[in-house]
Amino acid sequence: MFKKILIANRGEIALRILRACRELNIKTVAIHSDADESAMHVKMSDESVCVGPAAAQLSYLNIPAIITAATITDVDAIHPGYGFLSENKRFAEIIEEHQIKFIGPKSTHIALMGDKIKAKEVMNENGVPTVPGLNDLKDVSKVKKFIEDVGLPVIIKAASGGGGKGMRILNNIQNLEKTIESAKIESKKAFNDDTVYIEKYLANPKHIEIQILADAAGNIVTLGERDCSIQRKHQKLIEECPSNILTQDQRNEISDLCIKAIKSIGYEGVGTLEFLYENNKFYFMEMNTRLQVEHPVTEMVTQIDLVKEQILAAFGKSISFNQNDINMKGHSIECRINAEHPETFIPSPGKVNQYHQPGGLGVRVDSAIYPGCTVPPHYDSLIAKLITFGDNREDCIKKMKRALEEYVILGIDTNIQLHQKIIQSEDFISGNYNLNYMSRFD
Ligand code: ADP
Repeated sequence: MFKKILIANRGEIALRILRACRELNIKTVAIHSDADESAMHVKMSDESVCVGPAAAQLSYLNIPAIITAATITDVDAIHPGYGFLSENKRFAEIIEEHQIKFIGPKSTHIALMGDKIKAKEVMNENGVPTVPGLNDLKDVSKVKKFIEDVGLPVIIKAASGGGGKGMRILNNIQNLEKTIESAKIESKKAFNDDTVYIEKYLANPKHIEIQILADAAGNIVTLGERDCSIQRKHQKLIEECPSNILTQDQRNEISDLCIKAIKSIGYEGVGTLEFLYENNKFYFMEMNTRLQVEHPVTEMVTQIDLVKEQILAAFGKSISFNQNDINMKGHSIECRINAEHPETFIPSPGKVNQYHQPGGLGVRVDSAIYPGCTVPPHYDSLIAKLITFGDNREDCIKKMKRALEEYVILGIDTNIQLHQKIIQSEDFISGNYNLNYMSRFD
């Protein structure tokens, strides 16, 4: 097994990876910025290296500094977590050029799935349903014809997109050229690539995603789905597993198609295929070639440690179970606790004066927060993931309600109250919600 892994990330996910490493008897190296000198992931790791100043561009995204840290600490592998460099093809390539294992797929697969147009092509070739779309926007008359065929609204999206950037909804054909142009400018700025494409805009879809795990020997399993439809500004807020609207037949059908597509490209590691789901139909949107923030809900229901499996697969071990061994039981929900005002959504970095996290049967908290710590203003506002598990959805919601009541974070604003409102709302309790749910809070 690997002897030492460098974790190229911070916050709760750095701790999550560190915990998996400990259980696998692997030493860990944390990296940190000046602002994170006293962060929990630094305190808990076996070794740590400062890789630069507070700004992520100069530290957590600083490839030369991270590679230097990996070389001087003599690690065998680097785990990128999510965000930061986790889907950066060049990072994966450089790591491998240094004879260090990148814990993730091959750089060619990161590149392939990072191009959403190419990703959709792979899915189409394998019978995975995709959102009707048009990739070549050069000929305006063809674009207009496509829009006429599918009807307004349509959505313009960045081929290299992520985090909702470079995305524009078009409601009025008069604004076509202007909207494409502004999507291109935003995409160029964010991803240094101004390739955009058009898709039919689905009015009331759910976001449902399929978790997959593949090893180097070509074994592939799916670990069910997650419903991530509670989103604000394209950012997920609450996720659950399983989705309460899929039948077992639908689950099996879409899972089989995902396996076929993933097999066709020889993918390795963990990955997630994201779909929109409307009127009993799935539409592939994109594939994330990394661990997802919301992976714990899948872990609770399958009792499979996805991070350990990811590390074992990267080392070249075959998956130790097959599809029939996966026994999905009960229900799990995750609330993303952000350091932000519950009504204005304005980020609220600062010192956490008091901290008490909930516990008890069926409650899991993945967080790097501790009393007296400071939430720096430089990074994502996610400070904790509160995950509950119950025999069924109703039980799971009850546990979430009482866990949110118990949670005390003082000194900064958090969205705990907002989560209370959501999970007690009629639409959430009935499961009858879609991607438009959060617009009621705008
Ligand atoms: P990104 O990689 O930037 O997050 P995605 O392709 O994953 O972009 O889309 C993000 C979100 O945008 C989706 O979860 C959904 O809310 C919305 N979205 C994207 N495409 C469509 C579409 N064709 N119709 C309706 N909503 C869409």
